[in-house]
Order: sequence, then C-alpha cells, then structure tokens
Amino acid sequence: MYSINMLDIALHSSTILLCVTILLFTLIQQRTDKLQNKLFITMTVIIFCNALSSVISALAEHHKMTNDTAFTVVEVMQFLYFLLHTALCPTFFCYVSYVCGTTSRVSWKKLLLYMSIFIITEIPVLLNPFLHQVYYFNDQREFCRNWAENSIYLAAAIYFALSIGKLMFSWNALSAKKKIALSYFYVIVIAGVAIQLIFIKVKCELLAEAIGVLGTMIAIESEDERIDVETGFNNRRALQSDLNSFMINRSPVTLVCLKITNGDIIQRATGSENTDILASIVSDYLKTVTPRYYIYITNPSTFIITITDNDEKTVSAITNNIIKRFKYPWLFRETEIILNAVVMAADMPERLKSPADVFYMADSPVPADNDKKLLTGSDLDYLIRRSAVEDAISRGLEEHNFEVYYQPTYCVKGRRLHGAEALIRLHDSLIGEVYPDEFITVAEQIGMIDEIDDFVLSEVCRFIKSGIPAENGMDCINVNLSVIQCMQAGFADRINDLIESFGIDKDFINFEITETIAPKDYKLLSTVVADLKKDGYHFSMDDYGTGYSNIQLIFSLDFDVVKIDKSILWSAETSELGSVILENSVRMIRQMGRKILVEGVETKEQIELLEKLSVDYLQGYYFSKPIPKKDFITHISQAHN
Ligand code: C2E
Ligand code: CA
Ligand code: CA
Repeated sequence: MYSINMLDIALHSSTILLCVTILLFTLIQQRTDKLQNKLFITMTVIIFCNALSSVISALAEHHKMTNDTAFTVVEVMQFLYFLLHTALCPTFFCYVSYVCGTTSRVSWKKLLLYMSIFIITEIPVLLNPFLHQVYYFNDQREFCRNWAENSIYLAAAIYFALSIGKLMFSWNALSAKKKIALSYFYVIVIAGVAIQLIFIKVKCELLAEAIGVLGTMIAIESEDERIDVETGFNNRRALQSDLNSFMINRSPVTLVCLKITNGDIIQRATGSENTDILASIVSDYLKTVTPRYYIYITNPSTFIITITDNDEKTVSAITNNIIKRFKYPWLFRETEIILNAVVMAADMPERLKSPADVFYMADSPVPADNDKKLLTGSDLDYLIRRSAVEDAISRGLEEHNFEVYYQPTYCVKGRRLHGAEALIRLHDSLIGEVYPDEFITVAEQIGMIDEIDDFVLSEVCRFIKSGIPAENGMDCINVNLSVIQCMQAGFADRINDLIESFGIDKDFINFEITETIAPKDYKLLSTVVADLKKDGYHFSMDDYGTGYSNIQLIFSLDFDVVKIDKSILWSAETSELGSVILENSVRMIRQMGRKILVEGVETKEQIELLEKLSVDYLQGYYFSKPIPKKDFITHISQAHN
C-alpha cells in the first residue's frame, strides 16, 4: 500500500502556481509575439504540464495497486512527463541562442543537426508504451528505468552544454542583466537536479526550473526599458544593445532607415506640441511592413528596421513598400497631411562599419541637395565624409588646426579701408582643407560650435588688442555668429566676459547674423541683439536676400549694417530682373536707415555699379580673398600707406 506523497504534491503544486503566475504576467504584458517570447512560453508550459502530471500521478499512486484505472492514470502521466520533459532542454537551448542573438546565422542544415538529438531521443519515448525501452512498470506496478532513459539524460546534458557554449561565445554581447539571469538559471537548475539525485524523495527539479524561468522573465522578458511607450517599437537603447550583439556574433544585418524630413512643418501645421505626433501617425502602418520587434525609433522622425536574413528581395520589398506608401497622404485628426520621407538601406558591417555608424545614419540630416527617395550604396558616402569632418573638427580643437583668416572690407567713399570679416579655416592633417560652409553646420549639430566661435572671438580680440587694426585705420572687425548660439541662455554674459578679459573696445566688434531664422525666434533674438548693442557692439544682417524671411520681421531687429548677398549682386549683372531686385533692395534698406555692404565684389564693373547705387561698403575678391593674419597685416599696411 502506498501513502500519498505529500512532499511531492507540495513541491509540484508550488511549481504549478509559479508557472501560472509567469504565464499570466507574460500574457498581461503582451510579450507573446517574438520567437523569443514563444520559446519562453513553451518552456513554462512544459514545466507546468510536467508538474501537473506529477501531481496527478502522485495522487493516483496511492490507489494504483488496488485500482486499475488509477494505475492507467499513473502510466499515462508518466508517459506525458517523459514526452514533454525531453523537449525542455532543446527549447531552452533555442531560447538561449535567441537571447544571445546567434539565431540569424543558423542554417537549416545546422538547425536540423541541432534538433536531430531531440528527435532521436523522442522516438523511444513515443514507442515506450510498446517497447518499454525508456522505462516500464514491473509486476508490483513499480516504476523501473530502462537503458534508453540514459540517452535522454545524455541528450539533456548535450543541450545544456551547447547552450552554455552559446552563452560563453556571446558573453560580451549580453547586458549584465541577461548574464545574471541566464547564469542564475543554470545554477538553480543544476542545484535542483543535484538535490533530486542525492535525496531521491525530494523531487525539486521542476520547481528549480520554474524559479529559474521566473528570474528570466523578470530580467530578460521584461522589455520595459527597451520599448518606446508611444509606439511599442524598440528604443535607442534597444538598438544599441541589439547592434552590439550583431557585431559580436558577426551576424550581418541590413538596416533600413526611414526619415521623415518635413516633421517640423507638420508639427507647426497641426499645432501640436506633442513630439510623438509623427510616430503616432505612421506606427500602425510600419507594423504592417514588418513585425514591431524589428522596428526601432531613434528620434521622433526617424525609424530603423533591422533585416537579418540578408536577402536583397526582402530589403527591396520593404523599402519599396515604404516609398510607395509615403506618396499618399496620412490622416491625422481628420486632416490629410503629406509626409516627406527618405529611405536609406545599408548593410552592417559592410557599409556601416559599427553601431556608431548606424546611429550616425539615423541622426545626421539628409544632405540639403538630395532629391532621391531611396539612398543606398554610394548615395550614403556623405555619411563617411560627414563623419570624417566630425573627426576633423574634434581633432582641430585638440591639435589647434583652426585658423582665423581675414577679408578686408572697404568704404565706397574714397575706397578707404573700413574693416575686415573674420572667417575660420580648418587645416586638417588627414582630409586637408575643410571650408566653413561644410563644417559649421556639422559643428552646430554636434555641439562644438561654441568652442569654435569662442576661438574666433578670442583670436579677433587678440588681434584688436595688438593695436594693428586701429593703427591701419580700421573701424571694426566682423565676427560671424551662429543664430543657435545667440539664443542660448547666458550668451551675452559669456561674450562680455570674454571680451572684457581682453580689455578691448566693444565698439570694434561687429557681429554678423544670417537672416535664416524661424519666425518664432525673432523675439528672443531681438532682445539679445538689443542687449548687446547697449553694451556697445555693432550688428550686421548677413546674406540678405538668400532666405525668404518676412521682411518686416527682419527689420524689427536693430542692425547697423545689412550685407547684401553676393548672389544678388551677381544676378544684377546678368539679368534685368536681378538688377531691379538689387536696386530696390538698396533703396529699401537705405530708407530703413541701415548701412549697406555688398559682398562678392570681384570686378571693376561691379564696383562702378555699386558706386552708382551709393552703397556704403564693399567686400570681395577684387580687394582680397580671406587671408591669414600675417598676410592680412601686410595687405592693410600697404593699403594704408
Ligand atoms: P559668409 O559670412 O557669407 O562669408 C562670406 C563668404 O563668401 C566667405 O566664404 C568668403 O570667402 C566668400 N567670399 C567673399 N568674397 C567673395 C568673392 O568676391 N567671391 C566669392 N566667390 N566668394 C567670396 P567662407 O570663408 O568659405 O565662409 C563661408 C561661410 O561660413 C560664411 O559665409 C559664414 O556663414 C560661415 N563662417 C565662416 N567663418 C565663420 C565663423 O567664424 N563662425 C561662424 N559661425 N560661421 C562662419
Ligand atoms: Ca559673414
Ligand atoms: Ca555673407
């Protein structure tokens, strides 16, 4: 007569409760769509079924000698236990492979090889009711092991060892959390098996497995820190970690980057303060292109899709699909809006060498002259150039590769030297001369413009302090400022501190600001300009005529001088319309009481034309190109004498 084994029932019931809890929370959090999630759920379900069959078996055990039905129940439960338990280790192996990110490179052949061990061991289990090779019940209805059971243990050990191998191989690609969770799983399962081997009555293996799985759920399956709440896509941190794992596992991956380029306008047009508006408009659509766990959102208007099967057809199907969709309007609060999108596709590690390059593609703006919808291959060379320029800027600040050049400005009346514009140059040892037209925007985007502008201003102050400019009859030196910088808090104080440290006359500094400013920024800029003018500085409006800003707004700023852009001068020479624009611009600016400088003066004819229009100052190659300080001093001393 068997007594009910209360310890068995207690241990297995706890296991059942744990599994139910794990499944419940996995379902509530909707972590069910990825293959990784599915493998995780499979493991939990196997442990749950094993524990359930063990409880039923333990209850029936009590009556199996006297009751044939009870004995059949024990037999069936034992069969189910073996049938499912043999699948646990292979499932765990697949799960670890997936978490380690090594699945994308596994070929079908290799997969079949991996799974063959499982298939071979599952056959004797399936045939056991007839052949009894794994186990049998003797005449006393006692459970007895048979030779094939050893092969099951052997297979389990092989899968366990293989999964440890995977883990070791990808160790560096894993986050600390994953490392801890998976190591904990191994330790607790090995402990469970060991206890059960030593104390045969303590059947704690399943409970140990369930606890290990629970730890995995908390640390690995919980995706909170990887997920963008608004869209359900992966966030930047997830992209970083997944790209690292692709690199370490040497898995090639194609990255498709979708950038919405008119996001600012849309935000303004829809009057929405919410930066997630673009994401909310397109996220449902993107989920139809590829499952959500392949999509990452790196900033409110940039999405990245990872494609691991290295198949050009899949890539072009996805990019074509997106480009086609963006030809049509999107519905936002019952309004139809057109979103401009550029799609880029590049392989890592072929074209994009590292995760940093991927973020580079995601974060750097599309070149202004780009008119393509799809950028691939050599279209993306601009990224390489841009990153080289970025490096040159950082290097330039460290190695002092920046130099300030000066270009003289002249008064029209008497052709007297008036001043100079300070223009920065970057002499890089690797990529050679880099011009400000290229690197200033990059420096603004990477937050290095402050240091550059401070350098220029200090150089100019030092020059003024030397007394040479004043001795040669100069009235001022013009310094370019980026608008972004002017609008930073504490800007005026910083400038004042710097200039006061040199002890020079503020009157000698003339700041140039370009007219390309967003209308909403005028108010702030106008207070900055007014404050600095009170301190004694002068201001010029640069590149007049190149933007399409509101004229009334432009002249609400208190500029001393307006610099008419060279393109206006040049087109005045070649077309009737151009000359009408130049003449009327000059007239209007004069009526507003501002001085006028025309830049880009290259010929005598241009000077004669400008003299007739009686503008105030001239600047251009006719007089001199921007030149190093030493040459500039020679130039002005000759002009002065
Ligand atoms: P900008 O302020 O409009 O500067 C005038 C540009 O026109 C200079 O180009 C100058 O070399 C060029 N230029 C002057 N006269 C002539 C001419 O007769 N013919 C032709 N073809 N070109 C002429 P550069 O030095 O390459 O500067 C380009 C832009 O970079 C500047 O445009 C300015 O916006 C920016 N920049 C230059 N230095 C600085 C700086 O120190 N700080 C900031 N924030 N921006 C700067
Ligand atoms: Ca300028
Ligand atoms: Ca200019």
